[in-house]
Amino acid sequence: MSDIIVIGAGVIGLSAALRLQQAGHSVTIIAKDFPTPFEAADKRALINYTSQWGGAHNRWVLPTNPAEQREHEFSLTTYRHMEATLREFPEAGITFMKGIEYFENPPPVHRDLTVEKALQLGLEEFKLLEKKDFPDDKVAWGCEYKTWCVNPMVYCSFLLRHFHILGGKAMAMELRNLNEAFLVKAVPGVKLVVNCSGQGFNDPAVFPTRGQTCLVANPCPATVTRQNADGSWSFCVPRNFHGGTIIGGTKEPDNWDPEPSPETRARLLSAFAATYPPIVADGPLQPLGDIVGRRPTRRGGIRLEREEIAADEIKGLQDNEARSIVHAYGLGGRGFELSWGVAEEVFELVKQRVSSRL
Ligand SMILES: Cc1cc2nc3c(=O)[nH]c(=O)nc-3n(C[C@H](O)[C@H](O)[C@H](O)COP(=O)(O)OP(=O)(O)OC[C@H]3O[C@@H](n4cnc5c(N)ncnc54)[C@H](O)[C@@H]3O)c2cc1C
Repeated sequence: MSDIIVIGAGVIGLSAALRLQQAGHSVTIIAKDFPTPFEAADKRALINYTSQWGGAHNRWVLPTNPAEQREHEFSLTTYRHMEATLREFPEAGITFMKGIEYFENPPPVHRDLTVEKALQLGLEEFKLLEKKDFPDDKVAWGCEYKTWCVNPMVYCSFLLRHFHILGGKAMAMELRNLNEAFLVKAVPGVKLVVNCSGQGFNDPAVFPTRGQTCLVANPCPATVTRQNADGSWSFCVPRNFHGGTIIGGTKEPDNWDPEPSPETRARLLSAFAATYPPIVADGPLQPLGDIVGRRPTRRGGIRLEREEIAADEIKGLQDNEARSIVHAYGLGGRGFELSWGVAEEVFELVKQRVSSRL
């Protein structure tokens, strides 16, 4: 088996590192940022470390084309993995609960959804909601199903600890160029690097989708999402494990503003309390802090492929063997829910490289 460097300690890098380790590879994670307790994290310094700021829940995206179908398979793989992880490690930061969705203007794929189709798609405990279950007259369609939520930093810290206890190594280091990874002395002669850097290295197709949310102390028994007719969203993600509940949220492509807006916070909180009154049944919302995160979005979708690099393209190598980079970045707003499907694909891309050199 091979020495492999994984760049990145977000949910994608940690999942990929664990999957490769499980296959017998010797894996080193190199990252600028590592999981940090939410309560102590520097919001500005870590703003580009998206896993720190994600919700994070699984919301099913119904597939309408081959790319979405592939992502749906990834989310099913992740769902099963979350179930298995929770069974074995109750402390991992995962909770299964009811997911509720409301649409003011449902797209055809939702309008046409039946219980049978939902079952075929793998959605468990799926139920179409009736008009009497809707929060107000603007909602035109609703459903519920069983899904999972994670407390992101409890979960990512768990993945890192798990990786470490199984013999994985981790180095805190910022790389300025991908080729730098092939020259790191701690892993001499490494032939394979997995790029889970979130935003890639100067990829012109990548842009941030800004998300402002607010953490409240109130617990919530369900993860609820509402899509409004004007394109805005209202949602909550219970974090559990003493993590409160995230109330969101905005989705603003190409907006680099690092500062939360108090007006946005007020709008998000009142919109969510109106959509899901049980969250204020025991008292008003208790805000603990605003969050601004940058979803690493990529025109053309996730980059998930292997690139071969001739040895003479990497100055400073001590041999003439070509190197490979497996890219796994640009997860946008779906990194947690696709994580184990992506990790499986990374494993396949690595396996093809290893077997082609035997
Ligand atoms: C408000 C908000 C809500 C969200 N909610 C959800 C949700 O409910 N469900 C869901 O699935 N997703 C959600 N997301 C999206 C999810 O958080 C991201 O898709 C995911 O975190 C991306 O993970 P990643 O590992 O690719 O990148 P990141 O978490 O950004 O990690 C990148 C890693 O690469 C390292 N790195 C980068 N560049 C370098 C370099 N040059 N040298 C060394 N290291 C480097 C970083 O230090 C870090 O360790 C949400 C995002 C936001 C902002």
